[in-house]
Amino acid sequence: MASQQIQPKLVIHGGAGSCLQSKGGIEIVRKSLYKVLEEVYPLLKDGASAVDAVVRGCQLLEDDPRFNAGTGSVVQSDGQIRMSASLMDGFVQRFSGAINVSRVQNPIELAKFLQTSDDRVLSDYGSAELLRELQLPIYDPMTDLRLHEWMEERKGNFNKAMAGVVAEPAGVGTIGVVALDAQGRLAAGTSTGGKGFERIGRVSDSAMPAGNYATANAAVSCTGIGEHIMDECLAAKIVIRVTDGLSLKAALERSFAEAEARQRDFGAISIDASGAIGCGKTSDVLLGAFHNGIQMGDTLEMSKGTLIFIA
Ligand code: ASP
Repeated sequence: MASQQIQPKLVIHGGAGSCLQSKGGIEIVRKSLYKVLEEVYPLLKDGASAVDAVVRGCQLLEDDPRFNAGTGSVVQSDGQIRMSASLMDGFVQRFSGAINVSRVQNPIELAKFLQTSDDRVLSDYGSAELLRELQLPIYDPMTDLRLHEWMEERKGNFNKAMAGVVAEPAGVGTIGVVALDAQGRLAAGTSTGGKGFERIGRVSDSAMPAGNYATANAAVSCTGIGEHIMDECLAAKIVIRVTDGLSLKAALERSFAEAEARQRDFGAISIDASGAIGCGKTSDVLLGAFHNGIQMGDTLEMSKGTLIFIA
């Protein structure tokens, strides 16, 4: 098993959506994403586990108010922020997550704690209890920008609410990280503030295996319209295709061809156990970036309906 040292790989995303302008443009987004790669990739090089690298990457992305997770999460229809996050350790094939949690800085920390708990996915009430038990400080993730967006939408009686876009106008939602460590172990983490303006109690794909999944063979994190991701069971589907013997490239091609045919709106980042990196999308934009050990790259200028694949 995992004793031989291999070249670690890291892929991150800051969501999918229909435009980059609201995030400050390509260069600003690229800078934010590369900063995370520059901090997390060296940890993998120094021997950090895939799980620890994923958690650290998720924390950094959650803390960046540009992205819709943690600080800067979008606001739901009732004016509240509810966040969801999950973590999957592919090596031991174990999923954990927290759904619709409020008043915490890094929802991924709850998912991390739950990895070793008997009860591994908690909803709102249980997550709030856990926050109290862990004595995590109370934190308000609301930013002025998100509050302003919500107030503007409220003036229009939420007419624009989620019409085919994810967390727009200001956000393309969700963050995610997948990593392969030097021991050959894979992990995936995903965290989100949801779609924005959604019904109270709506559950995001980000804390489901449909949106975040890994085995010893592949790891995938998804972003985009959660209902579409659930309908395709996207992350689990890609990972299982690889686990059953398809190459990552073929698994992505097949899964995204199906998604195109059904007019889905989403994107996914992935790594397989051989170190291959793959990113796909049906959305206009996927804010993805990767470090393959030699260089960094990104998906910011990738055309719609295409895949990026690095063997
Ligand atoms: N998938 C997330 C959700 O539906 C949103 C996103 O990725 O932008 O909650």
